[in-house]
Amino acid sequence: MKRVAKSSTDKKVARKTNKKVVRMNDPIRIVPLHLPSELYRPSAGIAAAPAAQLTYRGGPLLDSVRVFTIFSGQAWQTSPNSDLANQLNQFFGFVVSSSLVDQLAEYSVPGHTIGHGSYIGTAAITQPTLSHSVTDAAIQNMLEQEIKSNSSVPKPDVNTLYFIYLPLGGMTNLDALTSTSLHELCEAITDPVPGWGWYDDTHGEIGDICAWQTKKLGSYMVQMEWSNKDANCK
Ligand SMILES: [Zn+2]
Repeated sequence: MKRVAKSSTDKKVARKTNKKVVRMNDPIRIVPLHLPSELYRPSAGIAAAPAAQLTYRGGPLLDSVRVFTIFSGQAWQTSPNSDLANQLNQFFGFVVSSSLVDQLAEYSVPGHTIGHGSYIGTAAITQPTLSHSVTDAAIQNMLEQEIKSNSSVPKPDVNTLYFIYLPLGGMTNLDALTSTSLHELCEAITDPVPGWGWYDDTHGEIGDICAWQTKKLGSYMVQMEWSNKDANCK
């Protein structure tokens, strides 16, 4: 996975997705939710997983993540997509205090104790119009604008994570959205500034090591996450 080097100190951390964003001082950083498979390192598969080991690089972690979702585009406003958006919000309400977040506690470090988070709300945005293929800059501008001008979009603090869902670009179902969203949620908690939290130089972040390995969590389909302690995806 391609990483952008950075040098500034950690202040405000925000992240958003379908495209997710990390805010470091002023710059907002964006990491794609879903990478074409050819961009994954060939070694980052199930066979390579036992060799994985995340190490802590000294950067910030999201101790008690605050998840806010933004659904961009008119397509999310009508059924059945609006139902999907509602279900996804319910999923976040459930997962931030689930056993999946409990299992991330092994990545707590002095000064950062990873605990339960909260789902703090959602907003629907139809202006500006973003297509399902969009530049990072367009998303940065949109989020900055919304934070400034839209009273329903909260200002970021060090634990705020914005998940931004772009207009639907084809077949989408709840399992795919919960699975990839959880992957990003866990990576945002354990490595909010990519490569500066818990990271493996060969395999990437906590979710990358277990990409496409899924399990049921409550009634939801989620992706498994790497555990250093168990040396396994769980
Ligand atoms: Zn990832």
